[in-house]
Amino acid sequence: MRLAIIGGGQLGMMLCTAASKLGIETRVLDPDYACSASNTCDELIVADFNDRKSIKKLAKDCDYLTYEFENIDIEALEELKTLPVKMVQGLKPLQISTDRFVEKEAARVSGFPPVSYKRVQSLASIEEFVREHGYPAIIKTRKLGYDGKGQVVINDPLDINSRQVQEIIKVGSIIEKAVDLDYELSVIIIRNKNGETRFIPSTINKHINNILFTSHIVENGVDERIIELVYNYIEYHNLKGIITIEVFICKDGDIYFNEMAPRPHNSGHYSIEGCNHSQFEMQLRAVCELELPMVKLLDESLMVNILGQDYEFAKAWVANNQDLNIYFHDYLKTAIKHNRKMAHITAIGIDAIIKLSGFAKTIKERNE
Ligand code: ADP
Ligand code: MG
Repeated sequence: MRLAIIGGGQLGMMLCTAASKLGIETRVLDPDYACSASNTCDELIVADFNDRKSIKKLAKDCDYLTYEFENIDIEALEELKTLPVKMVQGLKPLQISTDRFVEKEAARVSGFPPVSYKRVQSLASIEEFVREHGYPAIIKTRKLGYDGKGQVVINDPLDINSRQVQEIIKVGSIIEKAVDLDYELSVIIIRNKNGETRFIPSTINKHINNILFTSHIVENGVDERIIELVYNYIEYHNLKGIITIEVFICKDGDIYFNEMAPRPHNSGHYSIEGCNHSQFEMQLRAVCELELPMVKLLDESLMVNILGQDYEFAKAWVANNQDLNIYFHDYLKTAIKHNRKMAHITAIGIDAIIKLSGFAKTIKERNE
């Protein structure tokens, strides 16, 4: 069996590792010849994500196609419909997730409410929104935002006239109310062609400067209401493959949909060692029409992301803290950059978690 994967970042890298364990051959498309997945895939096509000829070349002679990257030329994928390659996920998850406005609307109609939001067309629409919902509010670009990029926080009327706001509204954006978060939760759900669903046990996510820092498994499982909202959402839109939903839990107990990603999620990396089947294996199973086993948590887990500025420091820490239950995943990126995700560390079991938590605290202090 041969699988075509669009995107060769760390998600693609871990997907290929999981594929080889299942005996699936992988062919990856990425613009960077030295991308993370180049270390683990069977074949790499170096081309731009919008290069239609190369996307066809990627899909040729493959049985299935999936993606680890959302901002793909959807029309190029549409053209693949004439080829034998199967795309179990289809285009719908991408059509929803690549535009924040469409994404919030899709959640709302399914009965999973996002925080109050509105499309921004002019400064007047921002003023109108804050009159109704108050400060603070956040303006977010509709497309291409990640790790907090493409967002501006509005704390008072002066902020509305800032240059940043002028810039952001030009590219198309939404405004939403900033809520008082207790914590953020991510729910990763896998659904196959027949509508069978499985969940990866959820984590509580902590961020530094809007970049995911740690994901810690939820001790007593997730509130049933959240599972039901997520389940209804995925059923309502008949989504297939792997879907992650970020959920806001507010200090007053309110629950909101934040965003959706049709790919494995950073918060689910712990599942490589923490579960009997990882999020990557489950994605492969859903998109390659294989059986979907139940996913079980093996032990309490904690994952810590390592950014460029902490990469060498973390490598040294891992070398000095050899522990059977601490796993270092190096994404083998050629350029080390500030705030770039370079690796992650997972700790399994309480003893390893205590060790890694101490280290995470040190990293946090370094970044403050
Ligand atoms: P992305 O992950 O695509 O950069 P998000 O919408 O998830 O964008 O925002 C990044 C982070 O910013 C969130 O994980 C959350 O911590 C914070 N944030 C975003 N929107 C809100 C909001 N409406 N209220 C409070 N915090 C928010
Ligand atoms: Mg997010």
